[in-house]
Amino acid sequence: MPSMVDTDAVVIGAGPVGLFQVFQLGLLGLKAHLIDVLPEVGGQCVALYPDKPIYDVPGVPLCTGRELARLLLNQVRPFLPLNVASGQCEQVHLGHLVSEVQAEGDGHFLVQTDHGLQLRARSVFVAAGAGAFVPRTLNLPMLEGAKNVHYHLDDATIGALGGQHVVVSGGGDEALSAVVALTALPDGQRPSELTLLHRRDQFQAEPELDAQVRNLLASGRVKLVVGMPTDGVAQDGGVRSLTVLGPDSVARELTLDHLLVRQGMSPKLGPVSQWGMSLERKQVSVSPATFESSTAGIYAVGDINIYPGKKRLLLCGFHEATLAAHAAAATLNPEAPQHLLYTTTSPLLHQRLGVLQGH
Ligand SMILES: Cc1cc2nc3c(=O)[nH]c(=O)nc-3n(C[C@H](O)[C@H](O)[C@H](O)COP(=O)(O)OP(=O)(O)OC[C@H]3O[C@@H](n4cnc5c(N)ncnc54)[C@H](O)[C@@H]3O)c2cc1C
Repeated sequence: MPSMVDTDAVVIGAGPVGLFQVFQLGLLGLKAHLIDVLPEVGGQCVALYPDKPIYDVPGVPLCTGRELARLLLNQVRPFLPLNVASGQCEQVHLGHLVSEVQAEGDGHFLVQTDHGLQLRARSVFVAAGAGAFVPRTLNLPMLEGAKNVHYHLDDATIGALGGQHVVVSGGGDEALSAVVALTALPDGQRPSELTLLHRRDQFQAEPELDAQVRNLLASGRVKLVVGMPTDGVAQDGGVRSLTVLGPDSVARELTLDHLLVRQGMSPKLGPVSQWGMSLERKQVSVSPATFESSTAGIYAVGDINIYPGKKRLLLCGFHEATLAAHAAAATLNPEAPQHLLYTTTSPLLHQRLGVLQGH
């Protein structure tokens, strides 16, 4: 990855609206880079309700949050192509928190992330929802930056857990589904010992998941430790044990090889409020005609924006992304004809989508 990338647009937030924003920009011939602090796309749909049903997306009578994210990703793929060699898309930057957006004075913006990525863009689309999703932590300073503490169950993390004693912290869907997923791994990839750490002997999860974990506990394949972690022992950049205060007020040491903290996500508005746009009740004020913010060239779409009549619904976010893309295209390419083209009949759109005409 070069240290500085030039692009037409940067979309901040890979939730459903950010994904559809890239699609609409692509139809209009504008190339976008997409950034999210989470390790996967989908925003709230994947972080908060992956398996819950959605009934009000036009033309899709029923899909889950995760299915919607997958459908949107498939739809936008022509404009986020995969590199054949790496299998990755060079325009998608996951695990990056956008920390700064600065106008450069020449009609460009400099967008910077906490991981040192710098993008120079002619327009910025803030699709940041309620803010950057960050995992809830255990509030123990010694866990910060520890190399064996994980918050996401991605492939790299799973690869590190085989044959290890893994402690999963939490009592909700995220923690329990991680326990079930880890016990279902094949021999060699599975942790040798699995402990679920929760402050009480009751979970707040879907009944089916709850029952699955109760079975694993009854069979002895998973151990339950009830209590609050209050301290721990750090060694060689990792955590070796936690001190857990039990309901009997006795503190016990819980040794571990890896700690997987799965206590849910909470959105933090954080940096968005420092980029100079006018805010109203912690949301970005926009024009309902263009979805441009008070800073020319920065648009805000989806749950992050506010205007008269605003509804925080997927459908409304998709509408906003469409109008914002058209407004940006008219500003960035004023000499180009601004006719409305249909995906059904336009050869130009077929070419951009990479589809054969009429197919
Ligand atoms: C339980 C639940 C059920 C719902 N059901 C429905 C429904 O049935 N129908 C419906 O229409 N709507 C529903 N919604 C609302 C819908 O999910 C939201 O309107 C939609 O997710 C908004 O999409 P978005 O892309 O604007 O924001 P989000 O989905 O919140 O995505 C924003 C993304 O931006 C990222 N981000 C923010 N700031 C930064 C930063 N500085 N750097 C990097 N990344 C950043 C976040 O990590 C996040 O991934 C539901 C919501 C919930 C919570």
